[in-house]
Amino acid sequence: MKLILLGPPGAGKGTQAKLIVDKYSIPQLSTGDMLREAVANGTEVGKKAKAVMDAGNLVSDDIVNAIVSERLDHDDCKNGFILDGFPRTLEQADALSGMLAEKNLKLDTVVELKVDDEALVERVSGRYTCGNCGEGYHDTFKKPAKDGVCDRCGQSQFKRRPDDNAEVMRTRLMAYYKETSPLLGFYYAKGDLKSVDGMGEITGIFNAIDNILESV
Ligand code: ADP
Ligand code: ADP
Ligand code: ZN
Repeated sequence: MKLILLGPPGAGKGTQAKLIVDKYSIPQLSTGDMLREAVANGTEVGKKAKAVMDAGNLVSDDIVNAIVSERLDHDDCKNGFILDGFPRTLEQADALSGMLAEKNLKLDTVVELKVDDEALVERVSGRYTCGNCGEGYHDTFKKPAKDGVCDRCGQSQFKRRPDDNAEVMRTRLMAYYKETSPLLGFYYAKGDLKSVDGMGEITGIFNAIDNILESV
């Protein structure tokens, strides 16, 4: 299974990707996670990306394309992968088409998560993740079963992203509508786009996505 999860910041891409990983045993390739790791490790890429990410703008296509191309060569991508947060520009979509052709891979589907802007801001403002295993949570919508303890790994250290605030979110949403939303037309025209209502419960949304995955 090779798919792209498309949608604005806070739409639930990461949340749904983790459920797909559990069921299909394919890796989640999140360019946001990879870039944050590069920032945390102080690599050359991290140094270039940090200020851009903090401001809510997009990191350059060259950097992101190179990261993804390298990642797709890892053994764990042999049976498929979930692209989460990539591609985000038409240039990246073109680069991805080239990479896949070169590596003899073919996308199965592109799943769009549709979520209202107000809900996006609310979701992003309350988002936090486990500092150990990366499981995602929300102050209101997805609390751990036991207060302060990660459901998945039992650890109790959590973190919040510096760009998950209402002000930077405005810039990120702008970047989405300007640079990323044209990809909907791009994949629709190719016949690859499937849209899912992302406004309901997490499990209901997963079922809708899973129906699509089962049918491709
Ligand atoms: P993205 O990866 O698209 O930026 P996330 O999956 O990180 O989005 O979700 C953003 C926040 O919203 C997280 O705190 C997550 O727990 C929460 N969330 C995800 N899906 C839903 C949903 N269907 N309803 C309410 N909150 C959700
Ligand atoms: P979200 O899904 O909440 O928007 P991500 O974790 O996907 O957040 O991305 C966080 C930030 O990392 C983005 O605002 C952007 O600066 C950078 N980034 C992630 N993926 C890409 C990409 N494909 N192209 C350019 N910048 C990216
Ligand atoms: Zn955890």
